[in-house]
Amino acid sequence: MKKKTPVFDYLDCVSCGICAQACPVSALGMKKEGKSGKYRNLFPELVNDRCIGCGACARACPMEVIRMEGDGDES
Ligand code: SF4
Ligand code: SF4
Repeated sequence: MKKKTPVFDYLDCVSCGICAQACPVSALGMKKEGKSGKYRNLFPELVNDRCIGCGACARACPMEVIRMEGDGDES
């Protein structure tokens, strides 16, 4: 069974880091440099293959930046 993967729409990301803090397996890092709207900052990205597809990051994001994508059964 394939797991779901978080996909980020950085346009609305405010670089708060809540998603990285919410990840139970430390699979997210605030490491991606870039610009989003008026923000030029660090954005989250998957930094390793630990992601278990739990969706905690997507639920934690206050800006609804993250959606879970894939063929898994879990959401
Ligand atoms: S889906 Fe779960 S394991 Fe994967 S990055 Fe988000 S919080 Fe971490
Ligand atoms: S929780 Fe959402 S807004 Fe905050 S850094 Fe993560 S993706 Fe960006």
